[in-house]
Amino acid sequence: MKFAIYPGSFDPTTNGHMDIILRAARFVDRLVVGVLENPYKTPVFTTEERVEQLKQLTSDIPNVEVMTFNGLTVDFARSIGANLIIRGLRAVTDFEYEFQMALTNRNLANEIETLFIPTSAHCLYLSSSVVKEIALFGGNIDDKVPVIIRDALQAKYKDRRIK
Ligand code: ADP
Repeated sequence: MKFAIYPGSFDPTTNGHMDIILRAARFVDRLVVGVLENPYKTPVFTTEERVEQLKQLTSDIPNVEVMTFNGLTVDFARSIGANLIIRGLRAVTDFEYEFQMALTNRNLANEIETLFIPTSAHCLYLSSSVVKEIALFGGNIDDKVPVIIRDALQAKYKDRRIK
């Protein structure tokens, strides 16, 4: 069975993440989206909010589940019996870091393979941080994130907006 995890911060989920989830779900039997509780990052959305958003966004994809994890990605994969790690690749700027992570993870857990999925052209320059920056300044993010994320971001930034 091809059982994969797709780990990330998802702060928040963008159309780029959704594109990877939808495409990965087509070729694996089971996909767990792993929301990282990273103690070194201060997210805009709490872990619970990010999990709830992803659950809503993937509710009609039968082989996708959402979980949280902390610690090493390979430990999370092992703990649930997954044998694949899915990562998305955008421009070459992603490559160095992702390649390093993939080799490190392979070194830590030889039985777990990393699979890169190249982004779709319309998501090439899309990242959670770009989306947050545009939203903070009141810009339009309609073509960058799902509607529930747009609404949640607008609500978060309502009082914080820089005029
Ligand atoms: P992390 O902090 O682990 O990088 P992110 O939520 O930023 O968490 O990203 C999770 C994964 O999704 C990474 O593999 C990243 O490369 C991928 N990703 C993010 N945005 C896009 C996009 N626009 N197209 C393809 N993959 C993407």
